[in-house]
Amino acid sequence: MRSHSESALRKSFINCSKGAAQRINFPKEILNADPAVWEKQIFLSWSDPKSPQRAFLVAETTSGLQGLVMERNAAQVKGGGARMCQICLTLHSSSGVSLVSIPTSKSSQDKYGSIGTYICSDLECVAYTLGKKKPDGIRQMEETLTPEEKIERMLGNVQDIFTRVEELLKK
Ligand SMILES: [Zn+2]
Repeated sequence: MRSHSESALRKSFINCSKGAAQRINFPKEILNADPAVWEKQIFLSWSDPKSPQRAFLVAETTSGLQGLVMERNAAQVKGGGARMCQICLTLHSSSGVSLVSIPTSKSSQDKYGSIGTYICSDLECVAYTLGKKKPDGIRQMEETLTPEEKIERMLGNVQDIFTRVEELLKK
């Protein structure tokens, strides 16, 4: 990623009010970081240490810098064996993925809508994609993609989520 200021990050959120965006807690290592730190980021994903059920995703999309607010379902995903993160396509045991709902309205006053998806509970999609992290005891799909191709695919999945939310926000 390129470097982005705190105000640019706050302005990037497409599915919450301006006031809510002002209250988002960003990871300390990102705010005012050197361009070298930013360069290593594929996209940003983190949860709010004060309310861990809230998660955030900021990416450089075809529409520019965009951010999403997500709510993690507190209940663990039950049964059904392995589940796949819809961003990085890593297979996890059921506790390793979280069902998140992504509001598709700018404020709670608007007509409420959301989309649901499964993502890595620890939000470490980038580390899984780069092979820096592996879920315990779950066999992954056999793939011949290079790390660069996997990153590209993951960014495509992130883009798809933003596109879906943008389309619903327009309605
Ligand atoms: Zn993931």
